Amino acid sequence: MVSASPLLHEVLLAPVASTPHRPAVIEFLGDDRLRTVSYRELGALVDSFAASLTAAGLGVGDRVVLESDTSAAAIAALLACSSLGLPFVPVSPEAPDERVRAVVAATGPRLYLRAAEGFREGVRGDFGIGRFGQDGLRIVREPAAGTIRHRRELTATDTAYLIFTSGSTGRPKGVVMSHGAVTSFYRGMYTQRIVGGRDRVATTSPLQFDFSLLDIGLALGSGAAVVPVPRPLLRWPRRFLRVLRDTGATQVNGVPSIWRQVLRYEADRLAGIDTIRGVLFCGEDFPLPELRRLRAALPAARLVNCYGATESMACSFTDVPDPLPDDLERLSIGAAHPGAEMILVDAAGRPFLRTGEVGEIHLRSPALFSGYWDDPAATSAALVPDPVEPRSGQRVLRTGDLAYRGENGELYFTGRADSQVQFRGNRVELGEVERRLLECEGITAATVLVLPRPAGPELCAFVVAGPQAREGTLLDGLSARLARVLPSYMVPGELRLLTGLPTTENGKVDRAALAREAGPL
Ligand code: ADP
Repeated sequence: MVSASPLLHEVLLAPVASTPHRPAVIEFLGDDRLRTVSYRELGALVDSFAASLTAAGLGVGDRVVLESDTSAAAIAALLACSSLGLPFVPVSPEAPDERVRAVVAATGPRLYLRAAEGFREGVRGDFGIGRFGQDGLRIVREPAAGTIRHRRELTATDTAYLIFTSGSTGRPKGVVMSHGAVTSFYRGMYTQRIVGGRDRVATTSPLQFDFSLLDIGLALGSGAAVVPVPRPLLRWPRRFLRVLRDTGATQVNGVPSIWRQVLRYEADRLAGIDTIRGVLFCGEDFPLPELRRLRAALPAARLVNCYGATESMACSFTDVPDPLPDDLERLSIGAAHPGAEMILVDAAGRPFLRTGEVGEIHLRSPALFSGYWDDPAATSAALVPDPVEPRSGQRVLRTGDLAYRGENGELYFTGRADSQVQFRGNRVELGEVERRLLECEGITAATVLVLPRPAGPELCAFVVAGPQAREGTLLDGLSARLARVLPSYMVPGELRLLTGLPTTENGKVDRAALAREAGPL
């Protein structure tokens, strides 16, 4: 039974009462060692952390930066903050000082909590400092005296957390999520029955990416166990698989790029892990050639395409067809979870239901963010009047994502509105060129950018091929093949073969880095 509470910690800690002895978190410590923290132990850790935070004088509304990888202690810390109404701001230990400074300057935290010893030299401020671990939460430097409190009660509209997006679609923005929004998202997610009480959910995203909060919510709210995969091991396919095998993971969540090296070098080993029953991916398109290989390695697993943005944590869960039809061109992003709706809107702002026509997704949902932190202009650009009935005062999320509707009402994501570029007088959808590249024999991943070149802007394609590919033959063949299926202005003038695509801290394709690394022709 899922808790009906609108408060984050109450939903996620419900199993402390119902299944106290079941594992809540299973940590991989290396060398065949695991640490299992039961729900009862997790609940006790949350209480002890909350007592230390209360003793430090923190109260409803005080922001707390939480720098940690995902672990039992980090989950306890964020739930302790939640229980006291302290909005937490997750930051990864991997994040550069500059980014952390920006987060601190924007949010003005009263406390900076860290799992690790010491403190970042490059980050200063008049916040208190605390350290936490399995053994408790210790205040190392007291926070400055608090302001006068106007309220003590915690309500559904209070802020649960702030997540700074990686900014793949612009400058980083602080997405403010209320308790009511995140718990209503969780409730929509639980109706999909992705995991049950016996599952072990491997989580691979950094804590600062809200996909990790999706994983934690999915596992704990279902009475299952969270299995944090140590981030450094993700780079090594064998070690990553070892974590999955040793922890008995049954469900593996992450962005598509976590599978790239595994599928390239260790597909057989992956096929040998027979505990995995489900894979959920999110954040960007899963290149179809790679997805076919994942399906082949895990023929019995349920593969779920989760679509959405930080502004609503996510919004749809769609099963990948099994088997994957040979002529499948795109994955469906289905329909929004129960309680929410994706509306397609044309260029004139009118909603429509026609099939096949591309429009911008607007999301109507009780799981929407409150706004961008300290940024009313960006907030009103994203939270717009309901296009179906603008007079109602209701706001919906303008996602910036384009999609069309299929015969059964399901949606197909075609790209970001801002990836439609004007190129030599023609409108080019970069995702369309990428899709054509992925249809070419041997190509496993592709990204297309418009880059400045001496003779003017040029379409540049970066492709990754299977290990057997021979560069010269492959690239010549590609140009010829693209010229047959695309108008000439959409055929990239420059093609580069790479062994992998650079990724952001969150594991998505890093287009900015690709542009920088591409350098001059
Ligand atoms: P960032 O801007 O930091 O990347 P988000 O994680 O919120 O922040 O990114 C959300 C965007 O990622 C969506 O608006 C969409 O463009 C893309 N996206 C998310 N999930 C999927 C998916 N399953 N398939 C394709 N694109 C996706």
